Amino acid sequence: MEFNLSGLGKRQKALMEKDVKVLVLGAGPAGMTAALYAARAELEPIVLTGMQLGGQAAITHTIENYPGFPEGVGGSEIGDLFQKQAERFGAKFEYGSVTEVDLTKRPFKITADNATVYFAHTLIISTGADSIHLQVPGEAELTGKGVSYCATCDGWFFKNKKVIVVGGGDSALEEAIFLTRFASSVTIIHRRDALRAGAILQNRAKENPKINFVWNTVVTQIVGEEKVSAVKTRNVLTGETGQIDTDGVFIFIGHTPNSSLFKGQLTLDTNGFIVVDRQMQTNIAGVFAAGEVADPHFRQVITSAGMGASAAIQATRFLEANN
Ligand code: NAP
Repeated sequence: MEFNLSGLGKRQKALMEKDVKVLVLGAGPAGMTAALYAARAELEPIVLTGMQLGGQAAITHTIENYPGFPEGVGGSEIGDLFQKQAERFGAKFEYGSVTEVDLTKRPFKITADNATVYFAHTLIISTGADSIHLQVPGEAELTGKGVSYCATCDGWFFKNKKVIVVGGGDSALEEAIFLTRFASSVTIIHRRDALRAGAILQNRAKENPKINFVWNTVVTQIVGEEKVSAVKTRNVLTGETGQIDTDGVFIFIGHTPNSSLFKGQLTLDTNGFIVVDRQMQTNIAGVFAAGEVADPHFRQVITSAGMGASAAIQATRFLEANN
């Protein structure tokens, strides 16, 4: 149904209203799996994709730990497969991002920037998480000019160049190894002298001749005019400061959940993750959350997909009991 929404000022915007049994917010592994399960329950789910179709998996070069792919699978490829499978059973993907949510009564009112207001009888929130920034001088100014949060997206620009990777977790090591395809050298700067990453990645990184480590060190500034030229560093044990010349800085120091839209309506933990029970139920009946927005612990494609499946099964049961 098309209608004009009054109160939007002089430039009235045509809005479409849609009544949806299951609305899924976000199209990463959690959202796409939720859509698959809801579609197979004949609930005609709509997935509002947000900005990143495929979620963080889509910007990962290769996923080697998703069962069923013994040789690994491309991050964007697995996203395409998830989407095709959900669509095969009737899930609809609509492009747009949520601008406003009203969870005070059912159906829940979700306004999106695609000129649509969705009235959702159940809601599955799978809005994922975003990269944490270092928040040092030069970082914001030089983002896209040598500062990056995605090796798959930007690695190619650093052919035969020197790059720095910040972080000591799985993401930092996985991406550092990927960057050795292009870069002449990859320097991993880590704030401790022990890595957080798993043993396999640690061994691979340590054995790679292009990778070297700078331990117990933090980046205090990213330097450059038009593009990155160096980072300033401080040794956290000795206080000694230094500068390392580089063409690029890739930052992988963790993620923060995309939950700000739900603040004040849903219970969030101290780090902003949506609190769910084992059935993926939030504090509001009929509102479920799945994937990294609700998972401070595992953050794997497989666990996010599992949470998405659980959320959709519970949404199905909820609709059976309440409609
Ligand atoms: P993470 O495990 O939280 O690691 C973040 C790293 O950044 C840590 O080494 C941390 O240092 C460092 N760090 C945090 N804040 C920093 C700061 N302000 N300045 C400098 N360094 C800072 O994050 P992640 O690597 O993105 O991984 C997230 C989750 O996804 C994990 O559960 C991981 O296992 C999973 N993951 C798995 C795979 C895989 O299985 N192949 C791949 C990618 C991610 P400290 O160690 O000192 O805390």
